[in-house]
Amino acid sequence: ALLKSPMPWFGMDIGGTLVKLVYFEPTDLSPDMQTCETEILGQIRRYLRSSSSYGKTGIRDIHLQMDNCCINNRIGTLHFIRFPTSEMPVFLNMAASKGLASTSSTICATGGGAFKFEKDFQHECRLQLHKFDELDSLIHGLHYIEASNPHECYYFEMARSPSMATKRPYDFSRPYPFLVVNIGSGVSILAVYSPDSYRRVSGSSLGGGTFLGLCSLLTGCDTFEDAIKLAAKGDSTKVDKSVRDIYGGDYSKFRLSGDTVASSFGQMCSKTKREQVTKADLARATLVTITNNIGSIAKMCAISEHIDRVLFVGNFLRVNEISLKLLAYAMDYWSEGQMKALFLEHEGYFGAVGCLLELMK
Ligand code: ADP
Repeated sequence: ALLKSPMPWFGMDIGGTLVKLVYFEPTDLSPDMQTCETEILGQIRRYLRSSSSYGKTGIRDIHLQMDNCCINNRIGTLHFIRFPTSEMPVFLNMAASKGLASTSSTICATGGGAFKFEKDFQHECRLQLHKFDELDSLIHGLHYIEASNPHECYYFEMARSPSMATKRPYDFSRPYPFLVVNIGSGVSILAVYSPDSYRRVSGSSLGGGTFLGLCSLLTGCDTFEDAIKLAAKGDSTKVDKSVRDIYGGDYSKFRLSGDTVASSFGQMCSKTKREQVTKADLARATLVTITNNIGSIAKMCAISEHIDRVLFVGNFLRVNEISLKLLAYAMDYWSEGQMKALFLEHEGYFGAVGCLLELMK
């Protein structure tokens, strides 16, 4: 009955920093189904389609939209929307005032916010949340999107020379086993053995939230986009202490090149050096420090799990080519070409997609 009704199908992932909302718009409605579409549903549909931005902070990622998607024998378009979790009160308000509750009595949600905001959904919007585990949803969504989009997965060719590194499609048709490194506010690392078998092997609290938090403190930047733009103009070698800074060259006995970072932020112990660095240098060093730390943990997990393909996802990688190429370089370099870093176009949306799939089961 659920699938025959033209109700809106949402999956929501309420994370520590961003809310990811995926909306399935059926495009195979017969004329009589269309006429039974309620006034409110029509409004919601027009509202969602009409714009690429919602309020001050909501954004529809049009470049990620997927047409002709098949979910449970229904054909439709998947829309991808995000807004800061700090705006949840505004969202709840809008959901209540637009009468979302009268179109559907349940919404599927995952992420910590599915628990944190459950009472608010009940009291303010009269909506009952169907809660799903975020890592189950992530894995489920990732498999679905990867199988539905032939251009989803990519890697970097010539990862060893960052200036020449080129994005190339990766054939992910026989992927198991692989590691998933989800870089959101924090980091979770999962080993995936089959479509429905995985294990959380590790994690780190030094993630995307750490980058943005430290970068804001050090540079006074306001947004993730600004932090990334600033980092793109900076030079981390002004901030970090390299093997060369300490040895005057390579540390040959253990094959460590002079360029290797020996101590992240190590030059900032000197007052003179502190006076010479720019905000851009500090932003770049923060980005490089956090990215390399995640790469290093990922590599150790891959070794201990005997896995050679590592899939990096999460919104930390949004508009962040520096980290993509750095992870590709680091995995290749430190594993001596044995491991491969892989990436997915829909970066941070897999949890929300997996959640939507649960609704349509
Ligand atoms: P979570 O589920 O913990 O919110 P995400 O996968 O959505 O995790 O990633 C959040 C991280 O993505 C932030 O910590 C930040 O590094 C990065 N990020 C990318 N785009 C934005 C944005 N527009 N606003 C805030 N953080 C962003």
